[in-house]
Amino acid sequence: MTAQLIDGKAVAKTIEAEVVAAIASLGIAPGLVAVRVGNDPASEVYVRSKAKKARELGLRGDELILPESTSEAELLAHIDRLNHDDAVDGILVQLPLPPQIDAKKVIDAIDPSKDVDGFHPINVGKLHLGRPTLAPCTPAGVIRLIESTGAAIAGSNAVVIGRSDIVGKPMAALLLQRNATVTIAHSRTRDLPSVVRGADIVVAAVGKPLLVTRGMVKPGAVVIDVGMNRLATSDADIVAHDEEKSRLLAKNGTVLVGDVDFARVREVAGWITPVPGGVGPMTIAMLMRNAVTAAQWRRR
Ligand code: NAP
Repeated sequence: MTAQLIDGKAVAKTIEAEVVAAIASLGIAPGLVAVRVGNDPASEVYVRSKAKKARELGLRGDELILPESTSEAELLAHIDRLNHDDAVDGILVQLPLPPQIDAKKVIDAIDPSKDVDGFHPINVGKLHLGRPTLAPCTPAGVIRLIESTGAAIAGSNAVVIGRSDIVGKPMAALLLQRNATVTIAHSRTRDLPSVVRGADIVVAAVGKPLLVTRGMVKPGAVVIDVGMNRLATSDADIVAHDEEKSRLLAKNGTVLVGDVDFARVREVAGWITPVPGGVGPMTIAMLMRNAVTAAQWRRR
């Protein structure tokens, strides 16, 4: 059996269509401000693409770019101004922040009703209480990917590998809300293979290339790979068995792989996400969804 592919780009397009429709019925363009401090190249790309996607879908997408030397007090003053600006429905602060700024203080300062990343403790609390809230974008996107397969979440055994605040923990909360029996595995889990083998749904969010192997996956399971790991030619042996990844590595000198051994796990899984093209495209789409939800809730 070969697993069916879950096409993250296609599911992201359906979310984007929902966003466009919701903006039309809202009658105003929600305002989303992406804040970046400093010149981290990855952050530059992320912030630019978030603001660009926002404008493409009919939101007002702005970037607030502050110098690397910005103090914590200065950033907090900007957040306060955005919190009180009625034209702003959503605020996100791109992480990581420079060392002089405590990211926790900044997240705590964002008005929870504008916290489109879903990282504010009030929103995290609501998520764990099962109340409506702005949920973190990556795990919310994973739920939509699982739903797109038609596989039942309620009653399933779901194993989330990873317990970070931005992926693993909210992922587990969202699956629990949907009545899965949830296990959270992490670096101290004893015998990870036997834990994962019991799963109908596996979500890998670790950051370790090809950690999830074929022998760990129950036949027919839904396997979602959140991991993004960039390999160099010195890592060629890791993907030696994967023709496609080896070809890309030889051609480009680098290749992106997930936490799942895609080439082999797809031979046993029922459904699987590729990397890239699986979870990745969902994150920005869900951010736009959250910005529109924030605007709907704030304006009702
Ligand atoms: P993180 O904060 O580094 O957390 C990694 C988690 O994996 C930790 O809970 C850690 O356990 C656990 N872990 C480490 N080694 C393990 C092992 N051998 N067995 C089982 N668990 C292990 O990472 P993150 O921010 O959650 O991100 C995870 C991955 O997802 C990364 O590759 C990241 O690039 C990717 N990501 C992708 C997107 C996207 O949009 N596609 C978004 C966010 C993240 P401990 O808690 O015990 O240390």
